[in-house]
Amino acid sequence: MRCNDWGQHRLTFSMNGESRDGFCYETHVACISADCQWKSHFKTSPEVRSGKKKGYREVNIRTSTYARSIGRGHSSLINFGQHFNSPPPINQSSYQEIMKKSDQCNKISC
Ligand SMILES: [Zn+2]
Repeated sequence: MRCNDWGQHRLTFSMNGESRDGFCYETHVACISADCQWKSHFKTSPEVRSGKKKGYREVNIRTSTYARSIGRGHSSLINFGQHFNSPPPINQSSYQEIMKKSDQCNKISC
């Protein structure tokens, strides 16, 4: 990643915990040069949506479906986050919605 000065300046990275969505973070990047003042931000995981309704972050879908694939549930995602000193995953209701959509997809593809 480069600022407007094509890599001549150093950049700083910071994560905004306030806008965290499960295991997805908003990351802010800024050039340290006072003359440049370039800055940008991005989410660490893309949004997956169907239709116009707000979607879910890919990392949250993947971790949720993975937990289920090994016979575990939402509490295992909490344990996972604790072991890696990470903030908690998506909440229980979002987890259940993802599982519901996953079930619907599995029914369609079978
Ligand atoms: Zn710069």
